[in-house]
Amino acid sequence: MRIYKVGGAVRDRLLGKPVTDIDWVVVGATTEEMLAKGFRPVGADFPVFLHPKSGEEYALARTERKSGRGYGGFTFHASPEVTLEEDLIRRDLTINAMAEDDQQNLTDPYHGQRDLEARLLRHVSPAFSEDPLRVLRVARFAARYAALGFTVAPETLELMRQLSDSGELEALTPERSWKEISRALMEDQPQVFVEVLRACGALKVLMPEVDALFGVPQPPAHHPEIDTGAHTLSVLQQAATHKQPLTVRWACLLHDLGKGLTPEEEWPRHIAHEFKGLKLIKAVNERFKVPRDCQELALLVGEYHTHGHRALELKPSTLLELLQSFDIYRRPQRFEEFIAACEMDARGREGLEERSYPQADYLRGAATAARSVAVQPLLEKGFKGPELGEAIKRERLKALKAYKETAST
Ligand code: ATP
Ligand code: MG
Repeated sequence: MRIYKVGGAVRDRLLGKPVTDIDWVVVGATTEEMLAKGFRPVGADFPVFLHPKSGEEYALARTERKSGRGYGGFTFHASPEVTLEEDLIRRDLTINAMAEDDQQNLTDPYHGQRDLEARLLRHVSPAFSEDPLRVLRVARFAARYAALGFTVAPETLELMRQLSDSGELEALTPERSWKEISRALMEDQPQVFVEVLRACGALKVLMPEVDALFGVPQPPAHHPEIDTGAHTLSVLQQAATHKQPLTVRWACLLHDLGKGLTPEEEWPRHIAHEFKGLKLIKAVNERFKVPRDCQELALLVGEYHTHGHRALELKPSTLLELLQSFDIYRRPQRFEEFIAACEMDARGREGLEERSYPQADYLRGAATAARSVAVQPLLEKGFKGPELGEAIKRERLKALKAYKETAST
């Protein structure tokens, strides 16, 4: 049997990028031989094994043929006769379809090295169209390598457009889609992911709520960039620049969905877009079975981001309601993430990227003031049950009034 390094490890070494996980392909071996060498099989369907010591993935060289819709709709054929070239041709991009032996000899039948130099993300063969997930993968790689100057080859973008128009994207499972979306959002230029999806028509299929924001104007006084889609991309970009976690990035992407619902007669104003957007945010969350923390933050940021911006003008009672909605007493982290998302929203505007955001510290201070109310003295005064709850609220309101006064002097 012959063993080769494949995929991302070869690509990233040639790019001079750090290699994180290594995938291997094994040519000329049978399942029985792999098991005899101590490899552990991964799943029932795939001829993939884990190395007994390193835990890295070793896949038997295989060919694939599409036999139906979705990911289940593939038949695999793995046998010792399958050649390295046959295995490489089923891969998505030429830069992902190179292999290397232990002497670093490169096997590159589909000219991945040429495309690395040309900075092109190009499909290997027409079989690209057999798996719609590749649309998301290419957009993700575009986001990852944008800083190096990579773009999607026009003929690959055309295949992505055909796939998006064909209805095949709908066959993707929420889990597979979310895995790509979440990884893409964590790249340095996540806005490129959204741009590429939009350019090939996939955004309209996957997240029509986000797609609808392009072409919707906002008041130039607050939004010099005017277009809501452009603003959303800038907010996402800010979130990446400021190394925000996935929860914040997801919330940034969805925060203004309500603006897509505003009747044209009301443009460029978007009255109550925060509230109107909630059902759209919920729909996107559910479509991809998004993790709970991301879902929650997106909904809260959607509803309250304008409150964040107006923090210094809020009445103490409104401020208290805001803090209560976030359950800042038990969920301090989530409130921090809310503040971060609001700040990214404020900075994701043309020419305002470096503005200061005093609202952030003001909100933190308000949270500290509300939390400083001690329960024990109220218990000692004999408050119980709902009355205790009311008493705590009164004290917190007092603390916020005092806070607002000192903060404004
Ligand atoms: P990363 O750095 O994100 O891990 P990678 O290229 O290693 O990038 P993997 O998802 O680990 O990506 O997959 C390893 C290799 O398997 C890819 O380089 C590609 O050759 C192939 N591959 C993975 N998923 C697909 C797919 N859906 N269609 C075609 N080829 C794929
Ligand atoms: Mg990999």
